Amino acid sequence: MRRPLVLFDLDNTLLDRRGTLADWATEFTARHGLEHEEQTLVLGMVAERAYPSTFDTIRARYRLPMSTAELWGAYCTEIATMVSCPPEVLDGLDELRAAGWRVGVATNGAMDIQHAKLRATGISERVDGVFVSEEADARKPQTRHFALAAARCGTVLYDGGWMVGDNPVNDIGGGRCAGLRTIWIKNDRPWPPDDPGPDHTVPHARAAIDLLLLHSADHTRTTT
Ligand SMILES: [Mg+2]
Repeated sequence: MRRPLVLFDLDNTLLDRRGTLADWATEFTARHGLEHEEQTLVLGMVAERAYPSTFDTIRARYRLPMSTAELWGAYCTEIATMVSCPPEVLDGLDELRAAGWRVGVATNGAMDIQHAKLRATGISERVDGVFVSEEADARKPQTRHFALAAARCGTVLYDGGWMVGDNPVNDIGGGRCAGLRTIWIKNDRPWPPDDPGPDHTVPHARAAIDLLLLHSADHTRTTT
């Protein structure tokens, strides 16, 4: 039987990036003796775009004595230590593969930090393939991003599949344009009124996994 494909977004889908960054920003500002108000600013900058260039800006603004490379390296190490993937989601990835799914991660971001998080959480060893946008300068919502992620899982978009993510534009809009069915992780937000909706809406990643497992069970029943 052909193995169906499911791609998962990483940040705020498989793991809680927002919460991890907030904890990190608290520690970072305390360690460098920065004013409490600066915590919101540092958090905002890193939440918007976490690349070495972000730390170049932070280093210059606060006249920090270490190099950008040192700050970036420390950031990657610290975030990897602090981040976690819920056990029921890790188990779910195993369950999907056991049920015959090809499971991949399709994420925007810098290679260093995304791979550090994937390794530290144990997600790396539970998926068939990973694609991080920086690897080939192909960001979601570009179809090329999804095509490269599918290729990492040993398949092609032509065969269809599913995209699970929290971002209406990058994950859901991009996934739909790439020919994938979509599951939106709501994270307590309303769907943007003018965007065409996802195929399904769920509260968290485990609910998306349960839906896919149900779908594959139905599919098996009707095709065997
Ligand atoms: Mg996300």
